[in-house]
Amino acid sequence: MTMNPWIAKAVVLAGTVVMIVIRAPHGRRSRSVKVAKSRKTPLETGLLVLAWVGFFVPLIWIASPVLFFAEYPLHAGPLVAGVMCLVIGLWLFHRSHADLGTNWSITLEVREQHRLITQGVYSLIRHPMYSALVLYSVGQALVIPNWVAGPVNLIAFAVLLALRVRAEERMMVEQFGDEYAAYTARTKRLVPGVW
Ligand code: SAH
Repeated sequence: MTMNPWIAKAVVLAGTVVMIVIRAPHGRRSRSVKVAKSRKTPLETGLLVLAWVGFFVPLIWIASPVLFFAEYPLHAGPLVAGVMCLVIGLWLFHRSHADLGTNWSITLEVREQHRLITQGVYSLIRHPMYSALVLYSVGQALVIPNWVAGPVNLIAFAVLLALRVRAEERMMVEQFGDEYAAYTARTKRLVPGVW
């Protein structure tokens, strides 16, 4: 069954609003928590720009016809599967922000009085927020019936993960030593029990 693409546009817009509502208070609060150690390399800046591109291209798809050349028909199956990914992804995004609290940063930073979080959604995997973003971007790829706007977020996060996770874990080991090593020994990175 072919669906009206405006359904997908409404879903993607709603998902984006929820994401902003979850993130905004943390972004605001993090400005008042002092940074003790920063690993914001030029590579990190590039990755943040890439993440912004991944965030904006779906909005351009919603608001303008410039990506119309890449449109394909929307089917009910991918739409339903995509909505499920978006909902689970946003739930996990919310939970990981709640558990990480003032220790959250948009880039690789250690805050003053940084605590290692190992409870809540951090008890099974070390990067639940990245898992959430992957689920969210898989959801977008399924929901958006457009070869450009659909996968752009997924590609951006795949690059971000490939180039950031190791550096982040190195920074955490330097900061927390054996405590992080022990945490690493009993958890996986993104998928509980798998990787
Ligand atoms: N990679 C994590 C956190 C993303 S936010 C996730 O996907 O859930 C990135 C910042 O979180 C890093 O700069 C680091 O300072 C901090 N961080 C990462 N893991 C942490 C943990 N287990 N406890 C406390 N802070 C953590």
